[in-house]
Amino acid sequence: MGLTAKVLWAMILGILLGAVINLSGLNVQGSRIDTYVIEGLFDIVGKMFIAALKMLVVPLVFFSLVSEVIGIGDVGKLGKVGVRSLGLYLLTTALAVASAIGVAMVFAPDANMGMIAKSAFSPSHAPSLAEVLIHIIPDNIIQAFASGNMLQIIFFSILLGISLLMVGRKAIPIAEGIKVLNEAMMQMVGMIMRVAPFAVFALLAKAVSQLGFDLLANLAGYVAVLVLALHLFGTLMLVLKCFAKLSPKIFLKKIRDVQLFAFSTSSSNATIPVTLQTVTKHMGADNSVASFTIPFGATINMDGTAIMQGVATVFIANVYGVELGISGYLTVIVMSVLASIGTAGVPGVGLVMLSMVFVQVGLPLEGIGLILGVDRLLDMLRTVVNVTGDAVVTCLVARTEGVLNEQVFVDSQAGLDNQMLIQTCAQKELSEAITHTKESPTCE
Ligand code: ASP
Repeated sequence: MGLTAKVLWAMILGILLGAVINLSGLNVQGSRIDTYVIEGLFDIVGKMFIAALKMLVVPLVFFSLVSEVIGIGDVGKLGKVGVRSLGLYLLTTALAVASAIGVAMVFAPDANMGMIAKSAFSPSHAPSLAEVLIHIIPDNIIQAFASGNMLQIIFFSILLGISLLMVGRKAIPIAEGIKVLNEAMMQMVGMIMRVAPFAVFALLAKAVSQLGFDLLANLAGYVAVLVLALHLFGTLMLVLKCFAKLSPKIFLKKIRDVQLFAFSTSSSNATIPVTLQTVTKHMGADNSVASFTIPFGATINMDGTAIMQGVATVFIANVYGVELGISGYLTVIVMSVLASIGTAGVPGVGLVMLSMVFVQVGLPLEGIGLILGVDRLLDMLRTVVNVTGDAVVTCLVARTEGVLNEQVFVDSQAGLDNQMLIQTCAQKELSEAITHTKESPTCE
């Protein structure tokens, strides 16, 4: 069984077990199942896996971006990729939120406020656009790496790549070293992926066993419209078909791994290693584009989050009987796009940024408390759309730059061929070279 199938089965089994625990009432806080299984075993396995993915993100982005900047050797080309991907990310996010508002207005979800269990919501500080811009430049690079601040890491990596280019020949050993470290990081991604099915099982069993099914029923209108809006954004596939001339069918098949990881972790950032590997090894997008567009997209491109914000705004406006009007909706679009730039790709942050939208259009912030209870599930779904958007734009930019290998894209086995064999040979070669037992490599 391939990895995707294993992860898919783990996901289904996890959801089933979670539902059984939930519906049979075994999830009561303080019970044995809750203490030892849900908050014990499942929690430990899930958190260890997410920590392992997050451990890879910073070095992976750093090494792959620096080595690609050196590889491209042309700062102008990098600028073109940057401007193009930024434009596409902003455009797709604006389209996402506009279409979500449209869907929500047609189906006008409403709810009886008395029926919804209100949860206390204390809005945390959402950064302003000025803050976002200023913070692109790290004042302390160690801090940027330690906190995993993606925009700052991207900024520093590009600058370091350019500086190494300017140093010239003397920088060759460092450049080679960074390239090798980048390859090593990719191997590490492969290693961690092997335990993914167990982790996905634990993550989903825990999430579903703690889900408030009764709350879900009371908010059925909101949940249904949001799920519909998220699905309709599959129209993004049209962009792929019309502008990149790539088959959505193949794309959807190859993006499945990435979507499963995004669903299980609810984090675009934690999914970066998988997204990067999929778009380069399985879809044929060159690393010179992907090493920049994937971490950049995971940070600033949040199509699913923007859709949630559009639907949530219409829903809360309906519940409180507030008339937003055209200017109100336009404000929602602009604010959601800005909010998505400032949203880090971590769980639950979209809801925090929603407060920024609500403040601008004058909706009560307590409204966010109404949808808080179902956000865990919806976060999983919107993260799937977020990472899909990143991969679509990456393929599109790679295609327009002429660095998408179509043969790899259409090959269903691409990136999977003889992976184990190649690895064993590589290991043998290295240990032979180090112990000097053989002069020349034995594995061609
Ligand atoms: N969890 C989302 C992501 O990582 C962000 C959010 O909408 O909360 O992409």
